[in-house]
Amino acid sequence: MRLEELAINGGAAVRREWLPYGRQDVNDEDISAVTSVLKGDMITQGPRVAEFESAVAEECGAKYGIAFSNGTAALHAACLAAGLGASSEAVTTPLTFAASANAIVYCGARPVFADISRETLNIDSVSIERLLTPRTKAILPVDFAGLPVDLDKILNIAKKNALVVIEDACHSFGAVYKRKKVGSVSHMTVFSFHPVKHITTGEGGMVVTDSSVYAEKLRRLRHHGITQPDKDRPWAYEISELGYNYRLSDIHCALGLSQLKRIRKWVERRREIASAYAECFASMKGIGLPKVPSGHEHAWHIFVALLDLNSLTTDRDGIISALRCENIGAALHYPPVHLHPFYKRTFGCGEGLCPIAEDIAKKLITLPLFPSMTDGDVKDVVAAVRKVLGHYGK
Ligand SMILES: *Cc1c(COP(=O)(O)O)cnc(C)c1O
Repeated sequence: MRLEELAINGGAAVRREWLPYGRQDVNDEDISAVTSVLKGDMITQGPRVAEFESAVAEECGAKYGIAFSNGTAALHAACLAAGLGASSEAVTTPLTFAASANAIVYCGARPVFADISRETLNIDSVSIERLLTPRTKAILPVDFAGLPVDLDKILNIAKKNALVVIEDACHSFGAVYKRKKVGSVSHMTVFSFHPVKHITTGEGGMVVTDSSVYAEKLRRLRHHGITQPDKDRPWAYEISELGYNYRLSDIHCALGLSQLKRIRKWVERRREIASAYAECFASMKGIGLPKVPSGHEHAWHIFVALLDLNSLTTDRDGIISALRCENIGAALHYPPVHLHPFYKRTFGCGEGLCPIAEDIAKKLITLPLFPSMTDGDVKDVVAAVRKVLGHYGK
């Protein structure tokens, strides 16, 4: 069989239009929800913030929701609420967006990287236990790609060692762990509402928790650390601790509330696309998929696949650039955090610290996945992967 010429070598691309790896869906109802806030009196810190907080908390089965200006700010505040500071440590995964670890560093604390499981690509709980010291205050696991981590194991380690679990669920809004919704299990759970995530507010984030103590502390940290000591003098306030301006506005929250109405439908569609991919790739040479353990209902923020480099004549970057020339927005999630120059320089991290994550990252590719993708788009991705892997197959 004669192989079609790859677009990277001058052949015709599989599709004419660029297909990004993720994209928001904003409809007319979303737009009028936002404009109605703009026409009103309060464009920030009006009623929409609390409405959005309750709606998100209810959707994921938590008592309290505290909205933040973005997911990173929400992670930072959660780390502060957990008591992270100078001379403390938090254990996290290297296979994540840098924000997970940066949030620990903002507190003056040290991020400690535990290796991942080769099967699920999530943080490995055995490796967490090995890294605990008397300075460890928190575990910050990430539901990579939308697959909930093994929360029972992690909460058990936390309980034995009096640690706080801050679950970075920026990928897993709508996921379920052993019949419990993500957001209802960890001490604090953090979501992001960036446009590539499950619902968007433009920029935005939230911490959900069942603890009134954390909720109160998080509200204070979001608003400069301000408290009002005297109910009879509503104009008086004091700074009781150092806080930030990490507020989210009514404009953003109106968009979030309107988007939230479609979350279940969207997660359903993400699952549909992921199973279509899984079916097509099961029999394809050169590509494999991470495992989804039973009891973990994936939310599919991204679709990642693992290249079998032994059967290919090029590397991950070769495959990604060939796919991008076919107009398929393949991407990399993520270069391991501990190998970034800042982390190497500041914490003395380097190659060999997390061998599984380092090996996996060399094989990882992300393929397009978002709810408004058509079945035709899915077919284009599969055709492009088949074409590119066919070309580079040994
Ligand atoms: C998106 C993301 C964040 C940060 O979210 P922002 O809202 O962009 O600040 C944190 N952690 C992970 C794993 C993410 O994917």
